Amino acid sequence: MRAIGHDLHAHVEALFPVCRSITGDGLRQTLRYIGEHIPLQISEIPSGTRVLDWEIPLEWNVRGAWLRAPDGRAVVDFARNNLHLLQYSVPVDRVVSRDELEGHLYSLPDQPTLIPYRTAYFAQTWGFCLSDQDRIALTETKYRVQIDTTLQPGSLSYGECVLAGQCEEEVLISAHCCHPSLANDNLSSIAVAIGLARLLAERPRRFTYRFLFAPGTIGAIAWLHANRSAAVPRVRHGLVLANLGDAGAPTWKRSRRGDAAIDHIVAQAMHDAGLAPQVLPFEPYGYDERQFCSPGFNLPVGRLTRSPAGMFPQYHTSADNLDFVRSESLAGSLELLQRIVETIEADGTWINTCPYGEPQLGRRGLYAKIGGQAGDAGQLRSQFDQLTLLWVLNLSDGSHSLLDIAARAGKPFAAVAAAAAALREAGLLRPAGDGEARAPVPGGS
Ligand code: ZN
Repeated sequence: MRAIGHDLHAHVEALFPVCRSITGDGLRQTLRYIGEHIPLQISEIPSGTRVLDWEIPLEWNVRGAWLRAPDGRAVVDFARNNLHLLQYSVPVDRVVSRDELEGHLYSLPDQPTLIPYRTAYFAQTWGFCLSDQDRIALTETKYRVQIDTTLQPGSLSYGECVLAGQCEEEVLISAHCCHPSLANDNLSSIAVAIGLARLLAERPRRFTYRFLFAPGTIGAIAWLHANRSAAVPRVRHGLVLANLGDAGAPTWKRSRRGDAAIDHIVAQAMHDAGLAPQVLPFEPYGYDERQFCSPGFNLPVGRLTRSPAGMFPQYHTSADNLDFVRSESLAGSLELLQRIVETIEADGTWINTCPYGEPQLGRRGLYAKIGGQAGDAGQLRSQFDQLTLLWVLNLSDGSHSLLDIAARAGKPFAAVAAAAAALREAGLLRPAGDGEARAPVPGGS
């Protein structure tokens, strides 16, 4: 656990200095880094391409940016902190009055030592972000603005890691990757997603897992546009990951549907992990769940964070740095996601083959299995008690999934899945309805 947290934090550290945006070389560099750790296919969508109701913007790259005092001294330098430059600033090289400069400065009077993170993707403007105390110290009458950026036709990049499963139905896991040097808000979830993909790559999978690393909003829209008739209809469960490295408790924001299977799966996993479940209702704001849950798609996608966006004082400031992201929080987030994935993999609906009276358990050796390690349902290895066994037998009538049974019985999902596996081995359960499609494949691979 400690080693895993350390590895995840190392990803955050490696990516922290890179100036990412919704397009450009910093985004590509980030995707290349991810591709060194998990198999990643990178797509490039040319500027000007229509994607749903949007258009891919010009590509933005930065060579440097300075605000210089009359003596030539750089009072603001992009090289010191990439948050200093308003994202998508147009190129500028001229002397401006202090008055004109004022309209291009962004600071936080309530947090006077912090640099804010600001963007102007579609505004054709420029600006500097700086601490309020540095802003107040700008007392010269003129300053030289040097912004060495390019805004040219290029492309928007996103990356996908697809881990094929036994069925084509997909679990979509997405993390935005368009923020510059902000550690919790984007890098923590990229790191945890890398960790989860590596774990999933090594185990048998019932579902196909698709990890999407795309710039926020426009990247998700570009992906939805490109996959409208391909991957999108295959999405059975989805999680948007963000802010997974702070000290806050895990928080689930429900899908637009509100009662999608993933909403129940995450609630059960949080409960089983002994976490006080923090569950928020859907609202059409936040990260890319806004796009996945737009009414035309209405995908079963919710959002897993620790502290939600905007709910921590470091949010979108220079205080969202490497110290703010904790190794143990990253590891805990990964552990919860593993539990969620195990639940997704092992859930299924079964039918009791001996429903008239209780079957005789002793004759089938089932009492001997109680309290022991049992279960071949994916990676789940758990103990179960007699009552769990009886609940599974009683509710396996083809209309209750194992997840339903866990909730009704108040038992951990892993115990219910293990009991079901033991009953299956004893011939007391068979797949419900459409068979294997709804039931986990015993033994995997
Ligand atoms: Zn953000």
